[in-house]
Formats: sequence, structure tokens, C-alpha cells
Amino acid sequence: MLGLMMDQQLLVNQIIDHAARYHSDTQIVSVNTDGGQFRYDYGSAHSNILKLASSLIKLGLKKSDRVATIAWNNHRHFETYYAISGGGMVCHTLNPRLFPEQLIYIINHAEDKALFFDKTFLPLVEGVRKHLKTVEHFVLLEDTDNALRESNPWLSFYDELLAEGDENYSWPDNIEERDACSLCYTSGTTGNPKGVLYSHRSTLIHAMMSATPDVMNFSARDCLLPVVPMFHVNAWGTPYAAPMVGAKLVLPGPGLDGESLTKLFLAEKVTISAGVPTIWGGLLDYLDASNIKLPDMQRTIVGGSACPPAMLDRFRDDYGIEVLHAWGMTELSPLGTVNNLKNKHLELSADELRDLRILQGRPPFGIELGIFDEDANQLPNDGKSQGDLYCRGPWVVSEYFAGEGGDPLVNGWFPTGDVATLDEDGFMCIRDRSKDIIKSGGEWISSVDLENLAMGHPDIADAAVIAVLHPKWDERPLLLVVGKAGIQLDEASLLQYYEGKVAKWWIPDAVKIVDEIPRNATGKIRKNILREAHGNALM
Ligand code: AMP
Repeated sequence: MLGLMMDQQLLVNQIIDHAARYHSDTQIVSVNTDGGQFRYDYGSAHSNILKLASSLIKLGLKKSDRVATIAWNNHRHFETYYAISGGGMVCHTLNPRLFPEQLIYIINHAEDKALFFDKTFLPLVEGVRKHLKTVEHFVLLEDTDNALRESNPWLSFYDELLAEGDENYSWPDNIEERDACSLCYTSGTTGNPKGVLYSHRSTLIHAMMSATPDVMNFSARDCLLPVVPMFHVNAWGTPYAAPMVGAKLVLPGPGLDGESLTKLFLAEKVTISAGVPTIWGGLLDYLDASNIKLPDMQRTIVGGSACPPAMLDRFRDDYGIEVLHAWGMTELSPLGTVNNLKNKHLELSADELRDLRILQGRPPFGIELGIFDEDANQLPNDGKSQGDLYCRGPWVVSEYFAGEGGDPLVNGWFPTGDVATLDEDGFMCIRDRSKDIIKSGGEWISSVDLENLAMGHPDIADAAVIAVLHPKWDERPLLLVVGKAGIQLDEASLLQYYEGKVAKWWIPDAVKIVDEIPRNATGKIRKNILREAHGNALM
């Protein structure tokens, strides 16, 4: 027997319809590429979105066509998200930090039909344009600029598309919840990037779940500033979750340095934010140096790579800001776990709480995690057994776009490539990427733990720990560090710093002082490059 309830499809455009209907005057503040500010509300954003969607159809774009964006977090980018997906096309966000060759590969692989981009990226687009096989429309996310048009006749201008649009446009009625709505490529450090194709349904339920109190905890009382870029796994779904609950939205544009963020946090009374650890390091240093507090800021979601415990302490002790440590992946839309306490934890001592809060957290409803050994046997959730982290749920990838890389699943689970432990409450602790873990004399050493400790050293600005070959132990840890400006690092004392903090045999065998730790387009350490350069340091 079927239930007798309305059969309404779960579509991304319903989010912005809802925001316009019930949160019409809630503000969106956007920093433009030239640094100026633009301020409007969900009601006005909605009418722009309808106009743009109608113009996209007039351009000849059809259902399921991929429409790419290369843009900062700003209001026009926000509008493209909804106009493209709502109109039935697929919003393909591109990371401008990729090498041009990777961008060309990805755009051609996705067969993007149109490309919307910010002025900052005009030189980048000019450089790759002649290699793009399928792009028919290049749209600058700006008002009309006649001088630019003269020198670049191939360009269209976003505001012209809006002006030609129809605000009485109604969404197409042939879109179903399992249709694709957006596309992101993984930042893979090896091999070709792979496309993860999200559906309306997966995006909508991911957003619903992320807004709940034990996940990101967004409400209509919040003012959210997503620092995480809209080109990195859809800014962790925040451009969907914020309008869904009617939170005020502050889109920070290109200025993600400590000073620019602090000004915005203060002026807009931001209550919640989200971003990777590197960004927060810059913010905390700026706040410390300028002796500024952020009285409205309550919490921030930190993920993308492990949050160093020292960062969590600084946020809490010096600024009264709660860090919600989260773990996710492009293949998970991206949310996998968030660290929020349970009722039984309210009695814990400060030290016990500190140990718990630094874990990557536990999965929300919708995500199931498992730890597996090398033969795909499931291990117990005892907080000790360490193995490959597998995952399944309605917002987890089942296949990569265009079948790239073959079937990613093992017995219906998605192997994440992370090595982790999981306790009986589902609290997960990432020990490493499976290919980065250090195996010394048959025992595992977590490079993440050693990096976290190094980042707590007052003189260290950045650190990486890699496995290097060793004649006796097969592999041993090597610490690579960048010192803070003007500081002369002493290698022996850096190693002494580990004493008493980890087992003796975990202490790295050597330290190398370097100018920079290489990172990929999403800020992750490129350990393969470090291993190539230093892999024989102990042989
Ligand atoms: P991406 O698909 O680019 O978002 O990368 C996903 C990978 O980032 C995960 O598989 C983890 O290795 C890493 N990652 C994300 N969040 C965390 C975290 N909180 N702690 C440790 N690693 C993380």
C-alpha cells in the first residue's frame, strides 16, 4: 500500500523559493572582486535567479548541460548556483587554484557548454580558452564593460543576461529529484581528477541534515560567513543550508586574509563560519596581533584537513569561539562527521573534553561509517581498531562522472582512502590517508598526529610529516617545517619537543627546515612531492 502524501520532488530550487517566500528581507552581503560591497536580500536574489535561469534557456542551454563557474564567494556566484540547477542544468564549479592543464582537462572532460567567471580570472580564462572544446559562452560575472567588450569580443556580461531575463519565469516541470544538479571534481593528488555528480535529492537532504543542531547548527538567527570557497565541494553545502533555514549570508569575495575577515565578522555580526585550518591560522594571528575580539562569533566549522588541537584551544580559550571539527570529502557532498557532544559528555572533565573535541566527530543520520582491514573485513567500533574508513549513505558517490576510474565501491561501501578509528558512539579519528601512513617495523605511525603536535610549537608556521625509506625499519617519519618569520629554528630542540607527547619510537628521525610546504589546490599537503624530494633522506 502506498502512503497517501503529496509526491513532491526534492529539488534544489525549492530552497531559494522557500527563502524568498519566508525570508525575503533577510540580507545577503557580498564582497565584489574589486573590494566593494553589495547588499540585498533573498527576495531580490530570487528574482535575479529567475531572470538568469530564463536567459540561460534563451542561450540554448538544455537539461543536463554542464555550466561551469570559476568564482569567489559572491552574490552573482550564489545566483548561478540556483539558476543553473533550478533551470535543469548542472552547475560545475571549478577551482581556480588548479594548474591550467588540469582546468583544461576538467572542462573538456565535463563538456561544459558555458563558463561564468569573475574578473580576477579573466587572464586565466584567456589563457586556456583556445583549448576548450565545448564551451560556447564565456560570461564575465560583472556589469557591462564596453572597453573590455571591445578588446574581448568573445565575452558576455552577467548583468546583461540578467537585464534580458524574465522574472516571471517558472521552473521547468521536467526535473526529477534524481537528476543531476551540480558537479565537482576531486582534488586528487595522483591520477586524473574525477567528477562527482550530485543530484537534487542528495543535495537537498545533505543540506537539511547539515543545518540540524548536532551537525552545523544553522538557524534563522544566524549570520553565516562561509570562508570555504564555493568552488570547493559547494562551500560544504552552506549556500544551500543557509537559505533553507533563512540565515543571513555574508559572502567574503576574494579577501580571505585575517584583517579582511575580521572587518567583515565585526561589521556584519557574523555568528558562524566555516573553513580550512590554514585560513583560521591567519585569522587567529591577526586577532592576536591587533588585540581584537569577535563578540558575536559563536562557532566555526573547521575541516578539509585535521584541525590542530592548538587551534581549537586558541579559539576557545582566547576568543570564546567553539570549533566544530568536521570531516568530509568531495565524494560525500562533503559532510561525513561533525564533532558535537552527547548528553553523557556534559559531565566530562576539561581534559577529557579536550581529547574528545579534537576527534573528527560522529556521523549524522544518513551517513554510516565502518572500519575495514586490508581484506575488507569489518573491524569493531572500539576506538582502538585502526583500518580503512568506508562510508555509505544517500549523499555518498556511487559512480564517478563518465565512469572515470571504474567502480569506486567495495561491497556497496565507498572506501574513503582515509585510515581511522571509530568508537561505539561513532566518534571517528582520522589517523592518516592510507597512502600517507608511516609503517615503521610493521607498526603504524600517524603523520597527522605528528603534524598536529608540530603545529602547536610556538616557532613553527607550517609542518608536514612524511614516511621516508629506512634500512632497518622500512619507513620512518621525517619532519619538514617552515619557521615563523624571523625565527631561527633549532632542529634538535624541535625533536625534543615531541618527548613525553608521543611514544619514543614515534618521534621523527630527522627534521628538515624548508621554505614552503607544497599544497594542492584545496590546501592539502602534496606528500607525494615531498616523498619524491626527501624519500631517501635516511638511506
Ligand atoms: P576533498 O575531497 O578534497 O575534500 O578531500 C577529502 C580528504 O580530506 C579526506 O579524505 C581526508 O583525507 C581529508 N580531510 C578532510 N577533513 C579532514 C579532517 N577534519 N581531518 C583530517 N583529514 C581531513
